[in-house]
Amino acid sequence: MTIEQIKKIFTDTAYVRTGGSKEELACAEYLKKCCADLGLEAHLESFSVDMAKIHTAVLEADGEQIPCKGYLNAGSREVEGEFFYLNSTDKYSLSLCKDKIVMIDGYLGAWIYKDLLEAGAVGFITYDGNANYADFDMDQRELRSYVSQGKKIPGVNINAKSAIALVEKGVSRVKITLRQDEYVGQSHNVVMDMPGEIPETIVFTAHYDSTSLSQGAYDNMSGCMGLLGIAEYFKDHPHRYGMRFVFCGSEERGLLGSKAYVAAHEGELSKIVLNINIDMIGSIMGKFIVCCTSEAELVHYVSYLALEKGFAASPYQDVYSSDSTPFADKGIPAVSFARSAPGNTATIHNSYYTMAVMKPEHVIADTDFIIAFTDRMANAVKCPVKREMPDNMKDKLDRYLLRKR
Ligand SMILES: [Zn+2]
Repeated sequence: MTIEQIKKIFTDTAYVRTGGSKEELACAEYLKKCCADLGLEAHLESFSVDMAKIHTAVLEADGEQIPCKGYLNAGSREVEGEFFYLNSTDKYSLSLCKDKIVMIDGYLGAWIYKDLLEAGAVGFITYDGNANYADFDMDQRELRSYVSQGKKIPGVNINAKSAIALVEKGVSRVKITLRQDEYVGQSHNVVMDMPGEIPETIVFTAHYDSTSLSQGAYDNMSGCMGLLGIAEYFKDHPHRYGMRFVFCGSEERGLLGSKAYVAAHEGELSKIVLNINIDMIGSIMGKFIVCCTSEAELVHYVSYLALEKGFAASPYQDVYSSDSTPFADKGIPAVSFARSAPGNTATIHNSYYTMAVMKPEHVIADTDFIIAFTDRMANAVKCPVKREMPDNMKDKLDRYLLRKR
């Protein structure tokens, strides 16, 4: 891929495309066309996702209305109660949540939601954005089904400035009114095959959806371009192993595309020797990381390869919060590539990260290194990575996938 092509793709896809939206589908069709431009045929595979349309989301604090966005799929109800800011999840603090509307720091994870329900909270408030920024951005959040497990209490997301004001003023009573239509929609994976000489395959993944305020350039049209770059290279170069490229939808909603893929292709998983995932490459700033959810030997292998190629890379063994994880959970060794930028140079999941944080030359250099790695694996007499998860990775997967706290 050329610098001009990279700039064009970033420009063409500079729009919000949350999982299950029509914009996401437009981007899926766009990627299919990008494959066609390379002379490669891709198809779309749909999967069901929870959707909602909010009609009313109001937060009142001591009678004053606070700007907010309602949580999607958190039901339709009106609740009123005492305000409580839960700044620590110790037992004492949780014991104070009963019948209250509770504001928490950070994301509404599955464990904190479970804690809130058990503590008897009747509603919740989260906040995001940055109190020091001029904007008043609020992300559109959702109560994910694997978080609620069918037990819904209403919640809203507010800006950090409002959150500070609630605590500073010592607000006592708050009321949340949430009304929405909840329904099932469709999201899509874009799948493209390049058969090899043997039936075993390497599966490549990169998500193309974005969060509600972002254009998803860095996270993760950059990774999609990595996949396109790999496909472009190997269509004219030999590869013993077959290659399957999966541009995943709804990753930002909890890896829904890759989870749907492994569920729909259960019968073919035994043929997959490796998953190569790309999530955020090519930023101006930051270091190149290689996260191996596999036996530790692969970490050493990547270190040697980086030295051999004269490429600065930091490989390590861990679970990566991206589409590699559902594959790893099926026992498939998975490796995620990313250029990890410091948060004050390219933050993600907000309105500030656009193609302005990207350097097309870095997209090309990062992709070239992933191609070099792929070339070794795809032309191996036998893919050298053991097709088995070591116990330390199984434990991390159990925690990441909420089977263990
Ligand atoms: Zn991502």
